[in-house]
Amino acid sequence: MAVKIPYRRDLEFEYGEVAAVGPGIRRVIANNPSPFTFHGTGTYILGSGNVAVIDPGPADDEHIEAIVQATAGETISHVLVTHTHMDHSPGCALLKKHCAAPTYAFGPHGAGKIEEGVPVEEGGDMAFVPDELIRHGDVIEGGDWSVECVYTPGHTSNHMCFQLREHKALFTGDHVMGWSTSIISPPDGDMMAYLVSLELLLARDDAVYWPTHGPSIVDPKAHVRSFIDHRKEREDQILACVGKGIAAIVEMVPLMYKDTPEFMYPAAARSVFAAVEYLVKRGELKCEGPVALDADYALGR
Ligand SMILES: [Zn+2]
Repeated sequence: MAVKIPYRRDLEFEYGEVAAVGPGIRRVIANNPSPFTFHGTGTYILGSGNVAVIDPGPADDEHIEAIVQATAGETISHVLVTHTHMDHSPGCALLKKHCAAPTYAFGPHGAGKIEEGVPVEEGGDMAFVPDELIRHGDVIEGGDWSVECVYTPGHTSNHMCFQLREHKALFTGDHVMGWSTSIISPPDGDMMAYLVSLELLLARDDAVYWPTHGPSIVDPKAHVRSFIDHRKEREDQILACVGKGIAAIVEMVPLMYKDTPEFMYPAAARSVFAAVEYLVKRGELKCEGPVALDADYALGR
């Protein structure tokens, strides 16, 4: 493909072992590797003494125990949640047995869409309800750290990034990752929102990104720009397919994802659908009936 994404995949770690990865930043990685989570969920610990935990991860007792061990002698005062996928938020309920810290998030799964009256899909953590609702620009102050909330819907409608202000380090959850692009799966995932949320990051001055999965991103803006270019390229590919009469998303995916293993096609189809939905919104594509994964598409003009 023409757009070159500067992927970052080298990561040295041991499951369950806490590691100091940056000033005021520690990380423990859960043993839940998969094609969607890379090596697993990276739970971050901010500060010392009174600490914040970002994304306790899946409902995995061993991982929660590792977080508790990593913070022995300290107090977890805040639990921050980037979004409500099953590899990020279910650990909150388990962690609550060990600490009294409230959870902070934009809202339950689908919160950004409920406001628009759109039903949400399954697959999210429907059980999670944050103790404290946070909004874009909110600042959370802790012991020796403070965090700015940066609302970044797209991957999910409730996705929040968190900036550790003392070090301009942005915890990007699944919004921007070094090892892979993000899956945008409608209806909760939204391509237009995702692209707006990428542009939002370009206007900021974060020094480094710490995604939930994989290593840090040390050249944040170049990375974000490549993601924006990549989505534009995907749109061009879709329009080229439809121009040749390839009208169904399932037929586009094998042509567009030649380097992707076949078992990933259903996930890829969700992202193509998200792009198609956005193209329809802009009048570049059209279809008879509702915009759907299995609809047939034609050029809009
Ligand atoms: Zn996710």
